[in-house]
Amino acid sequence: MRLNYSILIKLLILQYLSVLCLPKDFDFFYFVLQWPGAYCDSKHSCCYPEIGKPTTDFTIHGLWPEYKDGSYPSNCDTNSVFEKSQLLDLMTNLQKDWTSLSCPSSNGFRFWSHEWEKHGTRSESQIDQHDYFEAALNLKKKVNLLQILRIARIEPDDGFYSLGNIVRAIIKDIGHTPRIECNKDSHGHSQLYQIYICVDSFGSEVIECPVPPKGRCASNVQFPKF
Ligand code: 5GP
Ligand code: 5GP
Repeated sequence: MRLNYSILIKLLILQYLSVLCLPKDFDFFYFVLQWPGAYCDSKHSCCYPEIGKPTTDFTIHGLWPEYKDGSYPSNCDTNSVFEKSQLLDLMTNLQKDWTSLSCPSSNGFRFWSHEWEKHGTRSESQIDQHDYFEAALNLKKKVNLLQILRIARIEPDDGFYSLGNIVRAIIKDIGHTPRIECNKDSHGHSQLYQIYICVDSFGSEVIECPVPPKGRCASNVQFPKF
């Protein structure tokens, strides 16, 4: 009886791992941008990078391979490690646009390495490590979220804005529905934290999300200063 129980546990673990990292290619990417004001203004707070306070803009959190059924792979190739030497030409832009705000202050390498190992390794069949990071930087240039929101008079001024207006402003510019994620500030206010944009599996074109956008936001959300 005890033996059967341990076999059952092993089978369940195997099944779980196969969902984490299916052998099939992924279907699309989430390009995830974070608002630094909301990252800092939450319970974990933040530390500015070693090079100083980032400019007032959305920064990249990651480029995440996804499956159409709503699941996603992670840590798919433990043999593929982050290699700084492949990214020398991208370093200035990575430091500006893919800033690490966690504590203690860092130069970003730990964050990029984590993102590559957890998410990027699944997409190696399509794009190598250099092109993976370059694709994210190019998408950041293509989708200027702060400007898109400013045109709709949605500003990072600690004001509250309708979630619907935020979504509509983004659709008006990129033509597709984003997924919005909120977190809470120390007063418990729902605030604009991350914006997910769906991108084709080459990491180049914005597409309509194959999975209906879900999120945890109030109908009015704060857009904190940064
Ligand atoms: P959280 O629990 O803060 O929402 O997410 C923690 C981490 O889980 C994220 O930073 C990301 O690495 C991973 N994660 C959460 N949601 C998703 C998702 O929809 N797709 C992928 N690929 N990863 C996710
Ligand atoms: P994920 O949530 O993507 O799995 O993991 C994010 C990891 O990167 C966490 O360990 C987090 O502490 C670290 N990290 C470093 N800098 C940042 C940042 O600026 N934003 C976020 N969301 N995570 C960061």
